[in-house]
Amino acid sequence: MLSLEIPQVSSEAELTPKNRLLLVEDEDLIRDMIVVALEEEGYEVHTAIDGRSALNFLQSPNVTNGESAPDLIILDLMLPEINGLDICRLLRYQGNITPILVISAKASETDRVLGLEVGADDYLTKPFSMRELIARCRALLRRQRYSNLSPTPVQKFREISLFPQECRVIVRGEEVNLSPKEFRLLELFMSYPRRVWSREQLIEQVWGPDFLGDTKTVDVHIRWLREKVEKDPSQPEYLITVRGFGYRFG
Ligand code: CA
Repeated sequence: MLSLEIPQVSSEAELTPKNRLLLVEDEDLIRDMIVVALEEEGYEVHTAIDGRSALNFLQSPNVTNGESAPDLIILDLMLPEINGLDICRLLRYQGNITPILVISAKASETDRVLGLEVGADDYLTKPFSMRELIARCRALLRRQRYSNLSPTPVQKFREISLFPQECRVIVRGEEVNLSPKEFRLLELFMSYPRRVWSREQLIEQVWGPDFLGDTKTVDVHIRWLREKVEKDPSQPEYLITVRGFGYRFG
């Protein structure tokens, strides 16, 4: 069980705008304790008692338009309806980058790793103290605040989310490492889905007009990019060869 520890007012009780948190927890007692502790810290807390209602809330218009979107999600893993890992996976798949703190009684390393792999930002094993929970929340919110200094529009196409300002790409819920050229190629393709590009046009856009190399460079980069984003690089679904012309995306 959780230890009932009332968090002390620390030096970190800084003046921050009221953060909105979503707590997804099916056990009434734990949920109530967390709500009390978080509200005492000045957070606004919305609760969901199972996976389905959490997703319904997150997909409601007020949340998707940003008006009442949570700044942080505290997510239990063992939930009725839809479990926490699936929620995590789904949100990341949809390009939702809200920080997620997983709270779970599953303490094995596999569970932790799995939680983090499907896109959770932090993992706290039950039982935990309220003080620790609040410290973790603060850390995640602080990180989020810094990364929010500039708006981060996201380009999404099916399973691929590209964050231009962060130079980050998420494919099927996992971050992939792209070289700068690969990133610029993918960004260009995603900006113009289905448009056919000749190799010369791609060279001009991505490498610049002064590029002296061969247009085969494009083919090599496309091949590398396919290996990173396609489920089966030999049967590409995104970076399509248009015979006699060049390439298109989607
Ligand atoms: Ca549970």
